[in-house]
Amino acid sequence: MRLLFEKSVLGRRGIRVPAADVPTTINLRGDLLREAPAELPELSELDVVRHFTELSRRNFGVDTNFYPLGSCTMKYNPKVAERIASYPGFAHLHPLLPQLRIGGMLTQGALAVLYETDLLLREITGMAGFTMQPLAGAHGELCGMMIMAAYHHDRGNDKTTVLIPDSAHGTNPASAAIAGYDVVSVPTDEHGVMDLKAFKAAVNDKVAGVMLTCPNTLGLFNPHIREICDVIHRVDGLAYYDGANLNAIVGKARPGDFGFDIVHLNLHKTFATPHGGGGPGAGPVGVTEPLVDFLPVSIVVKRNDGTYALEYDRARSIGYVAPFYGNFGIVLRAYVYMLMLGREGLAEVAENAVLNANYVRCRLKGHYKLAYEGVCKHECVFTVTDEMAANEVHAIDIAKALIDRGFHPPTVYFPTVVKESMMIEPTETESKETLDAFIDAMIEIAQLATTDPQKLKDAPITTPVSRPDEVVAAKNLDIACL
Ligand SMILES: *Cc1c(COP(=O)(O)O)cnc(C)c1O
Repeated sequence: MRLLFEKSVLGRRGIRVPAADVPTTINLRGDLLREAPAELPELSELDVVRHFTELSRRNFGVDTNFYPLGSCTMKYNPKVAERIASYPGFAHLHPLLPQLRIGGMLTQGALAVLYETDLLLREITGMAGFTMQPLAGAHGELCGMMIMAAYHHDRGNDKTTVLIPDSAHGTNPASAAIAGYDVVSVPTDEHGVMDLKAFKAAVNDKVAGVMLTCPNTLGLFNPHIREICDVIHRVDGLAYYDGANLNAIVGKARPGDFGFDIVHLNLHKTFATPHGGGGPGAGPVGVTEPLVDFLPVSIVVKRNDGTYALEYDRARSIGYVAPFYGNFGIVLRAYVYMLMLGREGLAEVAENAVLNANYVRCRLKGHYKLAYEGVCKHECVFTVTDEMAANEVHAIDIAKALIDRGFHPPTVYFPTVVKESMMIEPTETESKETLDAFIDAMIEIAQLATTDPQKLKDAPITTPVSRPDEVVAAKNLDIACL
C-alpha cells in the first residue's frame, strides 16, 4: 500500500480556506520562519478518507472478528460505555480543577465515579480499599509489590524473596524484581497447579510473599489456595493475587475470601474496557484492612456532608504511582459496565466464560492434545498431537492457518510449562455459532496437519505479509512494506 505522501499530487486540495479578511500578524523572529513551505501531502478529502478507511480495514479487532487470545480476555466492549465516557462533563474535565469550593461542581461527579468504583471492586474482590492509579496490570503488580515491601519495612521484617509459580505471567517475576525482591520459581505439579510440596519447602522466614494467578494461566483453579495463603501468613508473608483476568470467578468467588492480602485487576480485561496496542488500561490495586494505609495517594473520600474530596495526607502511603488519578476514562467505562450488568450479570459473565471455554475444550479434545485433563475455567490449553509433531507441524503453523480463516490465533508458546502450547480464551461474549465456526476451522487445520502439512507451513496467504520475523517487526516496524 502506498503512503499518503506517495499519493500526493501537487496542488490537490481537500478544502479551500478563504483568504483572511483580517490583518495577519506573525510575531515569530525572522530566523525561526520556514524558508520553504512544509512538504505536506496534497490530496482531496476523498483520497484521505479512502486511505485511512483502507488502513482501518487491515486492523484486526473484536469488533470485526473472533479473538480467542488466551490470558488476554478480548471480550466485546459495550458501546454504551464509550458513549458515556465521551460525555463532555467527563471527557473535558481538567485534572487540576478544584475539588470543592469554586468549580467543585464540575469535579464532584468524577470523584463520585472513582469512589463508587472503589466500593464495587471491594465487594467483588473482598478487599478493604483500592487505588485506581495504576495504568496497566503490570503497573498494578509493581504497585502491589511496593505495598508488600512497605508493609515489611514498617514491621521491621527482613524479607528478601518472593515465590512465584513457573506458569505465572512474565510480568509477575519482573514486578517482584523491580520492587527489590529475589524471585524463586515454584514448579507446576502433574495436575497443572503450583506444586504444594515444593511451595512448602520453599517457604521460610526470608519469604516476603507469594504471587499467584488463580485460576492460573493454564485455566486451572488451585484446590489448595486457602492452605497456600495460610502457609505464607505463618511466616508473616503476604499473598498477592494476580487478578488480571477475573473472568472465571467474577461475581462467584472472592480472592479476599481465599486469604489473599493484595489484588490487582485489569479493568481492560474483565471489565470490558478497550485494550490492545499498549493501552490505555487500568490496573487498580486492592488491599485488606491492615494494608490500606500503604495505598498510593491521593484517595477519594466521602465527607459527612456527602461531598467527595481527594485525601493526600496519609503518612504511611507509598506515594504517587501515576499522574493524577490514573486513566480515569477507563475506570469510568468499567463503572458503567458493572452498573449495567449488576450482581447477577457479573456472575453470568463467569458462568458463560467458563461454559464457553469448556465447550471449546470438549469439541477439540479429540483433535488436539489437551495439556491437562479435566474441567477448565475461562481458558483451555492444547498442544500438538504426536502425529502433528511427527509431521513437523508446530503451534505457530496452526496459528498462521487460523489467520487465513478469519480468526485471531490463540496465545501460542505461553505458558512455557507446556511445549507447543495453544491457549484459547473464548470469553463469554461469543455466540455458539462463532465458537462452532472457530472449532470447525481448528478441526480442518488438524486434518490438514496429516493430509497436507505443507499447506499449513505456507500460511498465511491472505495477509499483505506472510511470516515476518516477529522480533524484527516489533523492534523495527516498517509499515511501508505493506
Ligand atoms: C494480562 C496479564 C497481566 C499484565 O497486564 P498488562 O495490563 O498487560 O500489564 C498480568 N497477569 C496476567 C495473568 C495477565 O493475563
